[in-house]
Amino acid sequence: MFKGRMEKILAVITIVLLMILFIRFVLRLEPTDYNQLTENALNSPEEMARIEVVRRNAFNYAKSCSGIQSDVTFEDVKWYIHPAREIRFEDGKNHLDLAGWYDRENGSIWIAYPYRKTAWVNAHESLHALGLVGHGEEFFRCGLLAEQQD
Ligand SMILES: [Zn+2]
Repeated sequence: MFKGRMEKILAVITIVLLMILFIRFVLRLEPTDYNQLTENALNSPEEMARIEVVRRNAFNYAKSCSGIQSDVTFEDVKWYIHPAREIRFEDGKNHLDLAGWYDRENGSIWIAYPYRKTAWVNAHESLHALGLVGHGEEFFRCGLLAEQQD
C-alpha cells in the first residue's frame, strides 16, 4: 500500500519534471524576435542614450586612434540598428554575415541588434564613415579588425 503510493508520487514528480524540461526546450527553440527587440530599444530613451554614448565614444576613438584628417563629424553619420542577429548579404549561392555595415552612398552606419553597444563594431564602422575603404593598417593599429576580437 505504502509502496504503491510512493510510486504514484514519484511518477507524478517525474511527469512534472519532464513537462518543465519540455516547456524549457520548446521555449529555447523559439526564434528571437529582433524586430520587437529593436522596436523596444528605439522606444526606450534610456537604452537609446546608452547606445548614443557607445556610438559617440566609438567614433571619437576611431578618429583619434587612426589620426585621419576628415571633415566627417559624428553628427554627419546616420546610425541605424539592423533588426537581425547579423547583417546578411547574399548573391544567390554565397552569403556574408556582418556585425556592422557602412552604407557609403547614404552616409549610414548599420549595426546588427546584438552588437548595438559593442564598442569595436561601432568604431570599426566609424573608420569607414571617416573615409577608409577596405581594411588597411589603421584598422590593425586601432585594434578594430574582426580577427583582433575575442
Ligand atoms: Zn569593415
